[in-house]
Amino acid sequence: MLVVKKFGGSSVANKERIFNVAKRCAEDYRNGNDVVVVLSAMGKTTDGLIAQAKEINPNPPKREMDMLLVTGEQMSVAYMAMAMASMGIPAVSLNAFQVAMHTSSAYTNARLKRIDTERIRNELDARKIVIVTGFQGVNRYDDFTTLGRGGSDTTAVALAAALHADSCEIYTDVEGVYTADPRIVPNARKMSEVTYDEMLEFASLGAKVLHNRSVEMAKKYGVQLVVRSSLNYAEGTVVKEETKMEKMIVSGVASDLNTARVSVIGVKDEPGIAFKLFHYLAAKNINIDIILQSVGRDGTKDISFTVPRTDLQETLEIIKEHKDVFTANSYESDEHVAKVSIIGAGMSSNPGVAAKMFEALYGADINIKMISTSEIRITVLIDENDVNRAMRAIHDKFDLGDD
Ligand code: ADP
Ligand code: ASP
Ligand code: MG
Repeated sequence: MLVVKKFGGSSVANKERIFNVAKRCAEDYRNGNDVVVVLSAMGKTTDGLIAQAKEINPNPPKREMDMLLVTGEQMSVAYMAMAMASMGIPAVSLNAFQVAMHTSSAYTNARLKRIDTERIRNELDARKIVIVTGFQGVNRYDDFTTLGRGGSDTTAVALAAALHADSCEIYTDVEGVYTADPRIVPNARKMSEVTYDEMLEFASLGAKVLHNRSVEMAKKYGVQLVVRSSLNYAEGTVVKEETKMEKMIVSGVASDLNTARVSVIGVKDEPGIAFKLFHYLAAKNINIDIILQSVGRDGTKDISFTVPRTDLQETLEIIKEHKDVFTANSYESDEHVAKVSIIGAGMSSNPGVAAKMFEALYGADINIKMISTSEIRITVLIDENDVNRAMRAIHDKFDLGDD
């Protein structure tokens, strides 16, 4: 068997945790399996590196940001190989160059395109555990890139696909995928299985337990995933194409603080304005989510939308620069907002789901600023201070919990 095992930052946060991971990998190795380990940076290392960079330059060049961030993962893999060596387990650490993990050129948000497997195969054939840096890649300029926050999950899935692994296990600090973030909703229930499509919604709507691109890739290449705890042996959650579980109307609740609202005010009520606005933003790779356009009045209208909070400054600069093209009188933004979403494949055929969600928010006296719906989810934008209360109120209303 060839197994790919990915361990997140909290699972390698200190010496004890590193040895805990080394031991779990050694078990597989001693059972005769080929073991590929993917690691994230230790604990909150990546956050620390970003904060330090911003002290030096509040708007650091993205290339240099990636050059910096890759060091976090490189520390983890080296320490892990040292830990394994001390246990008499042959192991080798490899970074994205050494593997070679080829990505698109977009610094800080690159996409994995191709992985060379020869070096890894050779090391496995030599009966070594191969420990690979998550989150990083190399682009066509021979520069380091990173895959976006939480991207180590994607490295693991991509490696599992490229190596035709027999299993891909994502180890983290919770026991699996829950009906809501168990740190916010204490009675959230662990799901034994979840489909790729539902998991993709969860991940895209803020449940950072899996990086959304990792789920996209798992679906594309048919890689079945298991999400489980690195700290115990509890059964985790299987992420796959079909589940035998009865489809729930609503399967869970997710929240996302990485969002900000932008309003472009007083644009001309004529064809092409939305196109121009979103075209400029798309050209800078800025993801727009909820969009709301007001009814035209006196020949003008307002367009509001949400962007990742991390892209707000860049968005505002683009609007400022092209204000005349967009025919805007003014613009404003609010970054103290958050998205809360419900997800469920059974939603489209069940009227009244939205009303029930809004009733839960009303009951908790929480104001809705924007709404967006699709067949499989409903998202509201609310004040960021209301997020945890909103999650619990909605989770309770749909009776998703354990008790
Ligand atoms: P890692 O460092 O292992 O990649 P992350 O912090 O990226 O871990 O992801 C795990 C965290 O995801 C959990 O600690 C939990 O707070 C959060 N989370 C959010 N939504 C969910 C959910 N629906 N189920 C499980 N965990 C969730
Ligand atoms: N270390 C990176 C981050 O913190 C990647 C990851 O953890 O998956 O975002
Ligand atoms: Mg993660």
